[in-house]
Amino acid sequence: MAPTTLHPDTIAAHAGREDLAALGVHALPLDLSSTSPLPDVELGGLSYEVLATGGLPIEGGSNVYARLWNPTVARFEQALARLEHAEEAVAFSSGMAAFTATLLALTHESGKRHVVAVRPLYGGSDHLLASGLLGVETTFCRPGAVAAALRPDTALVVLETPANPTLDLVDIRAVVAAAGEVPVLVDNTFATPVLQHPLDLGAALSMHSATKYLGGHGDVVGGVVACDARLAAALRRTRAITGSILHPLAAYLLHRGLGTLPVRMRAQQDGARAVAEWLTTRPEVAAVHFPGFAACDPVGLVGTQQSGPGAMIAIELAGGYAAAVSLTSSVRLFTHAVSLGSIDSLIQHPAALTHRPVQSDAKPSDALVRLSIGLEDPADLMADLAQAFASTTDAAASVARDVTFAG
Ligand SMILES: *Cc1c(COP(=O)(O)O)cnc(C)c1O
Repeated sequence: MAPTTLHPDTIAAHAGREDLAALGVHALPLDLSSTSPLPDVELGGLSYEVLATGGLPIEGGSNVYARLWNPTVARFEQALARLEHAEEAVAFSSGMAAFTATLLALTHESGKRHVVAVRPLYGGSDHLLASGLLGVETTFCRPGAVAAALRPDTALVVLETPANPTLDLVDIRAVVAAAGEVPVLVDNTFATPVLQHPLDLGAALSMHSATKYLGGHGDVVGGVVACDARLAAALRRTRAITGSILHPLAAYLLHRGLGTLPVRMRAQQDGARAVAEWLTTRPEVAAVHFPGFAACDPVGLVGTQQSGPGAMIAIELAGGYAAAVSLTSSVRLFTHAVSLGSIDSLIQHPAALTHRPVQSDAKPSDALVRLSIGLEDPADLMADLAQAFASTTDAAASVARDVTFAG
């Protein structure tokens, strides 16, 4: 069967492993070499030049130095590119390193220094753009205002869908149309290539914090960008010069994680749907943000742009900030921690943590708590939230009592 006719789950299990049998191995090889033997000065020097300028290894050449090229990282990139329907992918030491390299490469290549960013974005991405640290000037806007925000010196349009932390959905095709000739980067961290293929919808780049669902086990930090071969070369050049390549052990773990990504994603999504529906019945919860609900998906992007709602939920608590604080410290099965996409469930307060650096007018509500649903039985997650709500109510009651006594 030709590789292009394989189904996504099969690609996830086999991509980047095609040559293993011929090598006489079954598991992914892990090359931790920081330096590589050089065939001779001429070929060694030529290899260096090609790799440091973003090219691919030359026949009979050397990997030279692990900041330039690593075969374990390249295998992971090849697999991720297949899943993203991209020509190539380039992997970095974190999601933020991937975003930084993309901003540097695209502004440098075009000689343009302006970026249009659709809010909301992950707090770290928002912070990097707002900081001006890279010499990039950013106009933040809502999805419908992209065309108006464009300037002759706009190098890139950035969006995230579903967006962190409110699960807002953005119509990728509509933003691509509004952006015209300007390349669009989609942060695909929440949807993963299991649910959404931004390049098929006209985006030039699909980016991940690989730390999240791609890794899936909460034990690796990484980032990756899928794009065409020309942009990939520019990203590899930037990565080589600035030194932000993914560590090979992290690439090994990420590649291993890809094999179970589709099955994890579907199971976590099923669990999230059950928990989200239950949350709508709770008096402690004023609003449930979950892309699977019609109210959160006014233009019907779930089922068209992304094949399912994903496994992230955001809730607004009727008791506001105090109830949110109490909930995060009363859960037992959920871990109170930032990050997401792990096989176990996590809970965190975005305004205080992941979105702390965001300017106050764009910060999420103080009453908002974000849930990343793992692979536990959803009944156990609901029971945990129920007991946490009960102790939250007790805590709130005792605060009220103390106030009464003090008064
Ligand atoms: C975590 C995250 C990032 C940043 O990735 P790191 O791996 O933490 O550097 C970017 N975008 C989204 C949507 C994220 O959740």
